Amino acid sequence: MALSIVATDAATCEIYRRVSAIGWSTGYAILLHFILIITGKSSALNKWRLYVLLYVPALFFLFVFAVPNGINPNPYNLRQTAFGWINVAHNNLWDWLFYAYYIGFTLQGLFLLSRWRQNSLDDGTKKKARIISLSIITALVLGTITDVVISSLFSELPQMAPVIMLIPMLAIYHVLQKDNFGITEGLDKKTSYLILFTSVLIYMILATYQVFSAYAGYGVGSTFNDAPVIRGIIVQIQMFLSIYLVLKENRPGYIVAVLMNISSILSGIAFVIKYDSMTSLPGIVSNVGVLVIITLIKTYKDKNYAYIKRINIQAAILKYNNEHVQLTGLYNRAVLEQTLKRDASLSLPHKRALININLSAMHALSLRYGYNYIQIMLKDIAGALKAYCNDDYLLYNTYEYRFVFYVKAYQDEKELTAFCANVLKTLNSYLYVHGIGIGIGILPIDKSIAHDGNELSKRLMITSEEATKYGNNTNILFYNKEFDLQITRENEISRELREIAEGIKTKRLYLHYQPVFDLVSRKICGFEALARLYSEKYGLISPVEFILLAEKTNMIALLGARIILQAFGFLNKLHENGHELVVTINISVIQMLEEGFVHKLLSMINQMQVNPECIGIELTEPVFATERAEINRVIDELKDAGIKVLIDDFGTGYSSFGRVGELNVDHLKIDKSFIDKLMEENPEKALTGDIISMAHKLGYGVIAEGVEHEKQLSYLHSQGCDKIQGYLISKPLDEDEVLNFLRSYTR
Ligand code: C2E
Ligand code: CA
Ligand code: CA
Repeated sequence: MALSIVATDAATCEIYRRVSAIGWSTGYAILLHFILIITGKSSALNKWRLYVLLYVPALFFLFVFAVPNGINPNPYNLRQTAFGWINVAHNNLWDWLFYAYYIGFTLQGLFLLSRWRQNSLDDGTKKKARIISLSIITALVLGTITDVVISSLFSELPQMAPVIMLIPMLAIYHVLQKDNFGITEGLDKKTSYLILFTSVLIYMILATYQVFSAYAGYGVGSTFNDAPVIRGIIVQIQMFLSIYLVLKENRPGYIVAVLMNISSILSGIAFVIKYDSMTSLPGIVSNVGVLVIITLIKTYKDKNYAYIKRINIQAAILKYNNEHVQLTGLYNRAVLEQTLKRDASLSLPHKRALININLSAMHALSLRYGYNYIQIMLKDIAGALKAYCNDDYLLYNTYEYRFVFYVKAYQDEKELTAFCANVLKTLNSYLYVHGIGIGIGILPIDKSIAHDGNELSKRLMITSEEATKYGNNTNILFYNKEFDLQITRENEISRELREIAEGIKTKRLYLHYQPVFDLVSRKICGFEALARLYSEKYGLISPVEFILLAEKTNMIALLGARIILQAFGFLNKLHENGHELVVTINISVIQMLEEGFVHKLLSMINQMQVNPECIGIELTEPVFATERAEINRVIDELKDAGIKVLIDDFGTGYSSFGRVGELNVDHLKIDKSFIDKLMEENPEKALTGDIISMAHKLGYGVIAEGVEHEKQLSYLHSQGCDKIQGYLISKPLDEDEVLNFLRSYTR
């Protein structure tokens, strides 16, 4: 349109007019389409209907105003004025139709924008809608006044449309640059529209100069003596400008450069046709060359861009993997630590807390069901826990079987307890059937240690560890200062155990022996070896405590071997004193499943020269914690060597004859809790009797543990129990006490 104003004659002016009609006849359709997209209404119609409704009018006006044809043979009423060529509208049917089209489309757009503004809740959107609406209204009013009303009435004013059009365009670009609406894929935000406009301006000035200089050779003017040289230079400058735009301004730059060159080519062709002259041919050829060059550059840049994008995506994936646990898709420990550090430095006003869900007991399940099964279960559990997340409760997967909720704001402890109770319910729906104990530890974040990630994680661990401790009961526990003492104690005991394992002051670990009485022969038939630890710091420690610690710190195998050797030494001592009795040794499942356990045991038997027939191994009933096949294999190996195998604590946990029935063992030891119940009045008594008779049917002997009263003894005797053990016979004794006991014991 600008070129048409400065055209040398009416014919050229009309050509530029027709070219500019491509822009203004489709512009309103594009504008409305754009508004439909940003207001989210573009999907209201199906795609085809939308395109037809939007663009068929535009195509129609393209046909009427841009393409020379018989329907509207003279669309323009051109006049030369002091400001250049202008169009004084005929205001014929076509013009009126066009007015209806552009005003109609623009008003629809404005209507959509105002609805968008009213319906949106956020101020940013309202502001965007207002800016775009205002700019369109301004352009509509100004453009109509200058180019329709005034130009129809006074006919001597220059065309203002090209300038007025810039108002909404700049406003929309301004908004786009601030917020891409998700539709500016490929539009580089850093595009400088100042550079674009400046370039176009320079290009157009040069083009105008070129046109004038070309026409000068045909007598239109006479100021352009060195025209060919200057034209050549101008073409070169235009080429630099085009390449610069493509390099600097990406896609918009490329589009502008292509348009500039095409317009140059078109005007060159127009010149050739009009004057039947080849003067503009070199220009046309170089413009085509420029088009090729910038297209090549653009393609290369796009490829590069795609490559960089791929690298970025890769980096994003890497970052994702660095921050997430692959299996559960949850943020990992590192992210939690960072978040805590950041929040500690913010001195937030709310009370904060950490909730640690300790499912480490699930590890045992993987031995039973296989790794994959447990992975799937863990994933499901993570999914279920995710449902508890919100803005204040964030979930992390800190270790394989541990989850942490970071509570960013809470009211009181009641809220946390209630939250955990719900979580527990969910977890139980997965784990209860498997007998997995769940511990949930809650640590309100104390300001004094908020910055100390180590201390936080230590306290959280202790708390959930404590919560898990109470056997199979599920627990929710708040952090307590005493847990710190507990940890110190555990550390100290572990340290002493390590020393013993390494051979330092090994006397701290020793054995007591509790006699087993045979109810049939009415004689002492053997002893159970029970480990004792005398800590330098805490005195006598229960095996219940230190065996667990030895297992946890991976020292059970070393310490277990020492215990076995001591027990064998005791067997030899009994032998020397003329007693052929059985000594049973407690072996923890972890110890038993250790590589080469049976082999080591047999070589110790060999080394100590003991009779395998006099050795019993007490295994805690293989509960969920174990791989059945592996356990059965070890039991068979022990039996093959002539060693006796006993199932300890029978009746607790998840025992059933169904499971034990397949095992190749000698005795079941009925747990003390059953024997305790014999002191109460029925009906539990019947159960103990049933266990005894059932065990006998399966071919097992029965030992009753923890017998303290005659009443229990007589019941057990009446039920045919084989052996008893307990304070009624004797407490566990040291080696010398055992010899005295055997010497004097009669019953
Ligand atoms: P357990 O194998 O069930 O051992 C029986 C426990 O009951 C022993 O406790 C014993 O002192 C106690 N006891 C025996 N008769 C009576 C009674 O009449 N009344 C009462 N109230 N208690 C009685 P202790 O020695 O404290 O051992 C506890 C547990 O520690 C054992 O339970 C066993 O599971 C484990 N343990 C002991 N020594 C070893 C060992 O060398 N290796 C392994 N892996 N575990 C061991
Ligand atoms: Ca035992
Ligand atoms: Ca027992």
